[in-house]
Amino acid sequence: MKINIIKMLFITHLLTNFTLGVKLFAQSINHPEDLKISLDPYRLEHPVNWGEGFEGIKRYLNTSEKVMALTFDACGAGDSYDSELIEFLRQEKIPATLFLNKRWIKRYPKTTKILMSDPLFDIQNHGDEHRPLSVNGNSIYGIKGTLNIDHAFREVFSNVELIFSLENKVSRYFRAGTAYYDEVSVQMVNDMGLEVVGYSLLGDAGATFTAKQVYNQMMKLAHPGAITLYHMNKPAAGTFEGLKMALPLLKAKGYEFVLIRDYELVNKKPY
Ligand SMILES: [Zn+2]
Repeated sequence: MKINIIKMLFITHLLTNFTLGVKLFAQSINHPEDLKISLDPYRLEHPVNWGEGFEGIKRYLNTSEKVMALTFDACGAGDSYDSELIEFLRQEKIPATLFLNKRWIKRYPKTTKILMSDPLFDIQNHGDEHRPLSVNGNSIYGIKGTLNIDHAFREVFSNVELIFSLENKVSRYFRAGTAYYDEVSVQMVNDMGLEVVGYSLLGDAGATFTAKQVYNQMMKLAHPGAITLYHMNKPAAGTFEGLKMALPLLKAKGYEFVLIRDYELVNKKPY
């Protein structure tokens, strides 16, 4: 009996320390330097996965409540800015997480600052050169991925540094250009203390959908805990017009829109 009590105390002690350790770790990321890890352990790894949804990639909010997180990507230097879409979100008071690529930020520095100062929006990291995250140069849609683990680290880290220089905040969520990864690079991002954010609802198919397609897709696939993927860099696409029709209807059906940072994220549908 006595031994059991000692055992229990020991296990409680371990659990407490473990929880404390996790909390301390989570709190200790205040500066981009806190994300630096040794890349040597990954150099001998040979990935077998290449995709958008495997374990380690967060695709859902951990809830069965009628909430959805809208995310909008801004991808590259040659792209534009869908100001109509952003104004619509402001008018409707709909929050959104914006994944900005470094090249887009460099092209629109003033707009980026304005978006950062708006509490409706949370700015997160869509990479340095908008490359799929790979440790061996895998490609998708004709876009070459990062060539090795150092390149993959730079793809993530470089834009964390830029965002930090603008709003003095370490962006904790990362989505690679094209949203494609291998599992070694996903492990690296997770080990840095960041989260890899995928999606459960492909909203505008890389901003190729018409307004009608955007509307239909959203109304068909909307579900509690969804992370949706849209674009805010292609005003000529149907994204804004489609969402202008869909979002008020979803609100009427009882859906609320939230920021991903306010929820625990999970890989599989939680209900
Ligand atoms: Zn993109």
